[in-house]
Amino acid sequence: MPIKHIKTRVIALLVFLSSGLVMADDYARQRQQMLSEIEDGVLTTSKYIDKKSFDMQVMQAMNTVPRHEFVPELMRFKAYENQPLPIGYGQTISQPYIVALMTDLLQPQPGQRVLEIGTGSGYQAAVLSQLVAQVYSIEIIEELGKATTQLLARLDYDNIETRFADGYDGWSEHAPFDSIIVTAAISHIPPPLVQQLKKGGRMVIPVGTGFQTQYLTLVEKDMSGTITTRQILPVSFVPFTGGH
Ligand code: SAH
Repeated sequence: MPIKHIKTRVIALLVFLSSGLVMADDYARQRQQMLSEIEDGVLTTSKYIDKKSFDMQVMQAMNTVPRHEFVPELMRFKAYENQPLPIGYGQTISQPYIVALMTDLLQPQPGQRVLEIGTGSGYQAAVLSQLVAQVYSIEIIEELGKATTQLLARLDYDNIETRFADGYDGWSEHAPFDSIIVTAAISHIPPPLVQQLKKGGRMVIPVGTGFQTQYLTLVEKDMSGTITTRQILPVSFVPFTGGH
């Protein structure tokens, strides 16, 4: 090959590689911006959530997961904005502040096993996977579940197990769970999920329907098995579907 062509190729390769680096760097910068918007969100909502900052490990996990990989390509430019985004099939990826809040409310610990109902884009599962030993996640839309399972494999999240089913019944083979997170709004707390929660465990679930105000609700099961619930703040989630 003539030297001139080799030179052109080398230059093209360098331009390609550096544009990749610039993009990666830009996403890192956008993630920083996202973190500071989450911090602002915590301050504005501090009277509801009774704290002035989220756990450092939770913020670290939010800083690690590449949110742009979990949104449709056309939405990537908005991936790190503090807002929910459509992910197809009429579903949405939650806003970063809500993902961080729900994760923080679960008080995740290394070694724990967590159940998620509503895999969606897989983003919430990926954030949790940084903080606990194993995440089990159930999605009711088969195609979405399949696409997300492939994405999670491609990104090497090997401590997330996914399943296509109606999450109302939980996942009894892997129960009991240290915590449970539900990412679709339902009129009541599904009894099978309460049953599959360990003593001392925590569940976070948006309770309400399209017609009433939904409240993000923290459910705690104490060591004697007694359940207490606390409404944290009003939220807006896509509906929990299925046959319940
Ligand atoms: N956690 C997701 C949020 C997705 S939106 C994320 O990080 O992107 C809520 C998801 O719950 C949707 O994908 C919806 O299909 C799913 N869902 C609704 N009802 C369900 C049910 N009964 N069982 C399992 N998944 C359900």
